Amino acid sequence: MKVLIATQKPFAAQAVKGIREILEQAGHETVLFENYEGEAELKAAAAEADAMIIRSDKVTRAVMDAAPSLKLVVRAGAGYDNVDLEAATEKGIVVMNTPGQNSNAVAELAIAMMIYMSRGQFTPATGREIAGRSVGIQAFGNVGRLVGAKAAALGMKVLATDPFLSDEQIRKGGAEPVADVAELYRSCDFVSVHIPATPETIASIGYELISSMPKGAVLVNTARKEVIDEAGLEKALEERPDLKYITDVMPGNYETLRENFGVRVFATPKKMGAQTAEANVNAGLAAARQTVDFFATGCTKFKVNK
Ligand code: NAD
Repeated sequence: MKVLIATQKPFAAQAVKGIREILEQAGHETVLFENYEGEAELKAAAAEADAMIIRSDKVTRAVMDAAPSLKLVVRAGAGYDNVDLEAATEKGIVVMNTPGQNSNAVAELAIAMMIYMSRGQFTPATGREIAGRSVGIQAFGNVGRLVGAKAAALGMKVLATDPFLSDEQIRKGGAEPVADVAELYRSCDFVSVHIPATPETIASIGYELISSMPKGAVLVNTARKEVIDEAGLEKALEERPDLKYITDVMPGNYETLRENFGVRVFATPKKMGAQTAEANVNAGLAAARQTVDFFATGCTKFKVNK
């Protein structure tokens, strides 16, 4: 089979080497397509692909239309909102992710972000320590659980909520369950956001939740920009000069936020949560193995579309 490794933002070289070895040893042909400009180029590259391994690359209906042999898309990472699942299902294309493979990288970044904001973005002004303070984990999945464990090890109190987990499961993961998202925001010095971007979660974090946070609170978002209601965030920051926001997914209104709120706001220039050598290798090799298994045995364990 012809497997296109389509990564506008390339994998680390070590990951590419490993991916190619796994695929080629199983008899597949690999085509490396990195640093491309946009959809038109991706469509041309995908024309003969049987499978695609991607990162944050957008696999739209138009890309699938241009790839008549396509049977499998593997998103090397957790979130898969960059793939049109409905179109894939209609066309009988299986879409998979590689859950858990880049979680540690993202969790480490979330912890770093809490410290960075507590220390005034590394300016000499008097900061705060994170030990002894509380962090609320919004969605206790692969990343959320790791953030919780690391935060606890640093002496923080860890609370969590997740609509798909029982209190018992949250306790087992080392956090104290709270009734709902409203209670999480009301009671935590930091909230670390780990919900996926879905129709239910898009723009779900807005003025009401953010402005309910305690004095001096910090909102940390390593999930997706879309889950924040940006106008609501701006209003809350305007009204509450003690609140701060840090994110790995730059908001649309970032320039305005920086102009108005200075070091109370920070966004990484380019999403970098999963951008470590380890995460690249873990997610990339998992994607390659899943591709081999799919064609060898029909395994669809990590399928995310219906
Ligand atoms: P995961 O699938 O392991 O966990 C997601 C959690 O969200 C699950 O526990 C699930 O129960 C919960 N959830 C699902 N739907 C929900 C809803 N409607 N409301 C509230 N909770 C809901 O995913 P993960 O690996 O922990 O990653 C979390 C998110 O972080 C991803 O969806 C992705 O968007 C983002 N992410 C960002 C980066 C980055 O580079 N910054 C890297 C990896 C993941």
